[in-house]
Amino acid sequence: MDSTGKTALVTGGNKGIGFAVVRQLAAHGYTTWLGSRDEARGRAAVAALEEAGAGDVRFIALDVTDEASVAAAAARIASQTPSLDVLINNAGIYVKEGDGAPSTVRLDAMRATYDVNVFGPLRVTAAFLPLLRAARGAHVVMVGAGLGSLTLQLDPSQGLSRWPAFAYSSSKTALNALTVGFANELREEGIVVTVVNPGFVATDLNGHAGTLTTDEGAERVLRAVQLPLSATGSFVTDHGTCPW
Ligand code: NAP
Repeated sequence: MDSTGKTALVTGGNKGIGFAVVRQLAAHGYTTWLGSRDEARGRAAVAALEEAGAGDVRFIALDVTDEASVAAAAARIASQTPSLDVLINNAGIYVKEGDGAPSTVRLDAMRATYDVNVFGPLRVTAAFLPLLRAARGAHVVMVGAGLGSLTLQLDPSQGLSRWPAFAYSSSKTALNALTVGFANELREEGIVVTVVNPGFVATDLNGHAGTLTTDEGAERVLRAVQLPLSATGSFVTDHGTCPW
């Protein structure tokens, strides 16, 4: 597709759902920055997309836990474009060693998980606000999870109630709160902030146990980019909204 003149940034774009989101945004004509904390992995991902004719994809070094890295990424992108239409806060981790039920979860696992999954989107969104404000009707999409839903966790018919990953699940609940906070703060400026449950997607994060492909997960993320301002602050999934 021809360029839309629009721009997008995806954190954790070098693999998994983020990689598929980059590919789909570029296919829709967005100039898309592929954020990666590791330069070699990020550049290899950009090269693979270029080879596949994916459109205008650009590497950006971005570790969401590192203030200096986030600030440098914002400055570098600002030097190349006056505005950012879409920010996808996708980077996320599940710490296999140390996460668990509340009685056994290790505090270092909690801190590491929150640093990426909660403070990461907070840092990145705040740093990119000047560019997002400069766009007309920008979208910020948080990649959340069904595990972040307290309602689903309390529903015994849902397997989620038996998933012993308190660091991960509570980080995604906190991400929901962050979404609502930014949605309320930015509504009057016309910036749409949503959180998406991409479904159970086969990626490294879950040892490829997921039942959906990365493209299917990415499609859910891209649907949020089409939502109007009236939908700001919503928790989106494939069949509409997800309960908080
Ligand atoms: P993945 O394949 O493990 O990809 C995670 C991505 O995040 C990688 O690019 C990783 O980079 C990046 N990342 C980790 N720490 C980072 C940091 N400090 N700074 C920047 N990037 C960092 O997992 P995924 O399943 O695609 O996960 C993507 C998002 O979807 C996550 O937020 C996850 O919680 C969410 N999600 C996934 C599922 C699922 O079923 N897979 C379900 C619900 C929600 P490296 O390659 O350098 O590690």
